[in-house]
Amino acid sequence: MNPTEEPNDWILSDRPDNPEEACGVFGVYAPGEQVGRLTYFGLHALQHRGQESAGIAVGDGHALMLVKDLGLVPQVFKDSDLDTLDGHISVGHTRYSTTGSSTNWENAQPMLSSIGPNTIALAHNGNLVNTVELRDRLKGVGIKFRSTTDSEVMATLVDHFTQKHHSLRGGIRETMGLIKGAYSVVMITEEALYAFRDPSGVRPLVLGKLDGRGWVVSSETCGLDIVGAEFVRELGAGELIKISEAGLESEQAVPAQRPSLCMFEFVYFARPDSVMYDCSLYAARQEMGAAVARSAPVEADLVIGVPDSGTPSAVGFAQESGIPFGEGLIKNRYVGRTFISPSEHLRQQGIRLKLNPLKHILAGKRVVVVDDSIVRGNTSRKLVALLRDAGATEVHMRITSPPVKWPCFYGIDTDTQEQLIGAVKSVDEVRDFIGADSLAYLSVEDMVAATGRRADEYCLACFTGDYPIEIPDAVKKGKMALEGIGTPAR
Ligand code: SF4
Repeated sequence: MNPTEEPNDWILSDRPDNPEEACGVFGVYAPGEQVGRLTYFGLHALQHRGQESAGIAVGDGHALMLVKDLGLVPQVFKDSDLDTLDGHISVGHTRYSTTGSSTNWENAQPMLSSIGPNTIALAHNGNLVNTVELRDRLKGVGIKFRSTTDSEVMATLVDHFTQKHHSLRGGIRETMGLIKGAYSVVMITEEALYAFRDPSGVRPLVLGKLDGRGWVVSSETCGLDIVGAEFVRELGAGELIKISEAGLESEQAVPAQRPSLCMFEFVYFARPDSVMYDCSLYAARQEMGAAVARSAPVEADLVIGVPDSGTPSAVGFAQESGIPFGEGLIKNRYVGRTFISPSEHLRQQGIRLKLNPLKHILAGKRVVVVDDSIVRGNTSRKLVALLRDAGATEVHMRITSPPVKWPCFYGIDTDTQEQLIGAVKSVDEVRDFIGADSLAYLSVEDMVAATGRRADEYCLACFTGDYPIEIPDAVKKGKMALEGIGTPAR
């Protein structure tokens, strides 16, 4: 079937065909500062990591105040809310759900939990792989749960072990020894800020300083930049920090394992103006584009990127190949996840919610289109059709990551293995499915090299099946149903 004959559901859909991010976390300890407002701005910078809900909790030494709701950051917080969030310690969260319902207010974070006379507010980025086992154990001893998230299980464990040790740090330490999976957590009490990271360091977490006025922790460095904080360092794998009146205290709460930062942060998730592993995401993406231009050259008139994540790579491809770069697609920037779907009538009119092609730029051209990844394949198929409709005479897809063949269990929604087109079709079959004149992916080696690091410093599991943190069989079963390729490399 001609792809253009299909309903343009991707262009309308509120479910993108990229892997979907799983939360941004942010925290401030800064006596004398408007920490609620600083956190609000920090969450704006981290909005790309989660658009389903947002929340901020603030501590003033005596109590915690919380505002959270479903929706984007500017939809959730009114100016008057920020006035009530008065104190010197704060934690914020933007959420995309990988566990738990996305429409349940209780699942929005930060999550409040009582520990004896104190309260904690916890924000988590990542995904635990032994949640079911831990929930069953806790329910067995009479502990009740309000939400369906792994973050609540974590908060409940912290509560339980804090009471046992009479120490919050002791409680966090024992919790970190029990939970398995990916977690970058920011947590506050009335008096202190805590942040901790899983022993493999899968999800990012950075520490910054507010020019002698306090400390900031953030999923990405772009969160530090927006509040004028200076980057200090990344939190170490297995590290726990506490920031209070006594200053910053750090400990290796659990032994660090092989570093396994998520490679998809470099390919797609993180903002291009962030820095990870001392590497500019923009520069890494540009080099990925240049590398695919070297490994899969093509004769063409124009290079375009799929905005926004494909743009730096398209620039790199153009510089390396000598083919001019141009903007061929304009993104409707403010549509986002609005919870308002177009009616069937509007759907039939084919309104384009996400991207609009620039016909006068594309018409009559042989176009190279650079994108970060192909997951289910629907996006690329619709995209190729869109470019042909706009007059492109040839469409050559260049992808700055290898085929995605394995599901993610560490906090990124990449669907089940049978829904991953790279797992079920060869490159030629994918090219035919999406209707492109040619298709080429970047190799694992070139992708890693573009970041200036070694492969053994990353999680590459969705490309290689080599999962750095063991996945329990029961969890694996739900997502890896394909005969013969359902066994990870280790
Ligand atoms: S499996 Fe893929 S998306 Fe998930 S953490 Fe590893 S590299 Fe990132």
